[in-house]
Amino acid sequence: MTDFMAQRVRGFGTSIFTEMSALAAQHEAINLSQGYPDFAGPAFIKDAASAAIAAERNQYAPSHGVASLRAAITRSWQQHTGMEINSDTDVTVTCGATEALLATMLGLINPGDEVIIFEPYYDAYPPDVLLAGGVPRYVRLPEPHWTLPVEALQAAITPQTRAILLNTPHNPTGKVWSSSELHTIAELAQAHDLLVITDEVYERLVYEDAKHISIATLPGMWERTVTISSTGKTFSLTGWKVGYALAPAHLTSAVRRVHQFMTFCAPTPLQVAMGVALDAGLAYERQLVSFYAQRRSELMAALREAGMAVLPPAGTYFVMADIAALGWDNDVEFCRYLTTEVGVAAIPPSVFYHDAYQSGLVRFCFAKRSDTITAAAERLARANLSVK
Ligand code: PMP
Ligand code: GLN
Repeated sequence: MTDFMAQRVRGFGTSIFTEMSALAAQHEAINLSQGYPDFAGPAFIKDAASAAIAAERNQYAPSHGVASLRAAITRSWQQHTGMEINSDTDVTVTCGATEALLATMLGLINPGDEVIIFEPYYDAYPPDVLLAGGVPRYVRLPEPHWTLPVEALQAAITPQTRAILLNTPHNPTGKVWSSSELHTIAELAQAHDLLVITDEVYERLVYEDAKHISIATLPGMWERTVTISSTGKTFSLTGWKVGYALAPAHLTSAVRRVHQFMTFCAPTPLQVAMGVALDAGLAYERQLVSFYAQRRSELMAALREAGMAVLPPAGTYFVMADIAALGWDNDVEFCRYLTTEVGVAAIPPSVFYHDAYQSGLVRFCFAKRSDTITAAAERLARANLSVK
């Protein structure tokens, strides 16, 4: 029989998150690999979803989103940025940031257009660009501080460049992009007439004096930026997949043209509930950050105790730990050993580089209960992680 698999997907493998979570389950390892909370989501949001189901909010939503959720997203954006946007023309609710990313690429990237991706990158970015027929151009952030390499970025811009894809706070490094880095990108985007697509799903997870800045709020940038976020991380309900894209009407209309045929709309009762969630505002967010700051300290202490150097991440719920000092030169092998022999699962970041570059680091997730982190700490402390 013909091999029916389309050319465009032949190069795609199975996502590392699926792979590592399956390996963790198989070996009963404590799963610090895939990024999702292992604790209950907030009761007031789950109650709001149950109430929406009971109130028969069970049919299709308007394609671009339930009005109360779009209004809440707009209020939240205004509260954090001081910028007014239009909830009818500038907001599109999607099935997670994942759909928003692909809909943005399909709606705004033509075949042959180049899209600049910083690596390490979130694993969906290159496939999203390729599905649109675009060409990924990679710019590597240098470890361990991941500072924007301005010259490398300038050198990556060609007449074919259409967009720069940003992620702040950044998965997997935990970097929160600085004001000066974002200004540099904004200047280049305007000088070369580029679009900026920015993935800000961890926008509320920033620690100590780090400050999240949306590049769309810099002078001249709103008109050329699509800002993508997701309620999954902020409200610890990643399985609900309520995400959104914010952009001026001329960009939004391209995103919506794809969204209407990809999913038409995200689940109605969950949208209603996330509207309620967003209105909990700053009080909820403060408590979330203080919860995660504690988990971050616990995990960093556990990793250090096990002999791994770590730098505190300024944002996200991930920590990168140094395995090179333990004598390992292959992060995939280390993560396999850690999962199968030690009983703790982590993510090998080489999968976030187009050429499997070895940064000498591995990624651990701290969106976990304190007792989960303690149990992982005990297993790590008992293990011999150094290469024999
Ligand atoms: N972007 C980044 C950087 C992420 O870490 C995630 C988390 N899975 C996503 C996008 C996808 O978000 P969602 O679950 O809302 O689709
Ligand atoms: N964003 C999550 C992570 O980085 C995983 C999401 C997914 O499984 N697709 O771990």
